Amino acid sequence: MTFTFPGCPRCGAQLDGGPVLFHCSACGRAVYAADLDLEVTARPLVPVVTL
Ligand SMILES: [Zn+2]
Repeated sequence: MTFTFPGCPRCGAQLDGGPVLFHCSACGRAVYAADLDLEVTARPLVPVVTL
């Protein structure tokens, strides 16, 4: 699968790593996928179960 990420929010460089935590090799910033404004997020659906 191929995802297109907007890149580092600080310098715009391509991010390494993922899919949860990305690392920018240009400025050394760690970027969480949750911090990126993505249309598609791999958010697990956790059903609320009351015992
Ligand atoms: Zn950067």
